[in-house]
Amino acid sequence: MRLILLGPPGAGKGTQAAVLSEELKIPHISTGDIFRANIKGGTPLGLLARSYIDSGKLVPDDVTVDIVGSRLKDDDCKNGFIMDGFPRTIPQAQLFDKMLDERNTAIDAVINITADDSVIIKRLSGRRMCPCGKIYHMESNPPKTEGICDVCGSRLYIRDDDKEETIRERLRTYHQQTSPLVDYYQKKGLLLDFDGTKPKEVTTREILESLKNLTKRV
Ligand code: AMP
Repeated sequence: MRLILLGPPGAGKGTQAAVLSEELKIPHISTGDIFRANIKGGTPLGLLARSYIDSGKLVPDDVTVDIVGSRLKDDDCKNGFIMDGFPRTIPQAQLFDKMLDERNTAIDAVINITADDSVIIKRLSGRRMCPCGKIYHMESNPPKTEGICDVCGSRLYIRDDDKEETIRERLRTYHQQTSPLVDYYQKKGLLLDFDGTKPKEVTTREILESLKNLTKRV
């Protein structure tokens, strides 16, 4: 299956993508994770991406589309993928359609996870990350020992772009540049809506259920 996860920052895309990737046995591709790995590794791409990410802006379309293009060439993408955080603009979506078309493939569904700005601000400002990929929240999903990952014992950290002012800028960016994609994929008949404020297990169940119905219809 070829899936896109759409939604504002903090709607739960990353959390859902990780579970869905395991359930559906398809890779989870997060452009944000790719940029962060490059920032950590001090690569030229990381240096470029950092200035945009830290100010809550989007990395330019051509750079982002190139990254996705080369990731899709990897063997593990043959049977599908879950795109988390890509596309984020109409030009990215159009270039992605073209890219898939050239490979004689297409998107099967776009999972749109929604949540109000007020919920998102609360969520992101309490979010704590572990280098192993596990995500915590100080109120709703705290680790057993404060600041330490339950799974691997590493010290948790706050993403640089989870500062309140950057969160507000990311939300502005989402409303201006990414939310038009809801309409774009709706018109293509690909959009499936989910309420991102429900407990995450409930949302996962609902997503898997509608994907099952989708494959029955095909
Ligand atoms: P995320 O982890 O998906 O919230 O992404 C973190 C940051 O990486 C975003 O705020 C953007 O600055 C950048 N980014 C991630 N995906 C894209 C994309 N598809 N287009 C442009 N910038 C992106």
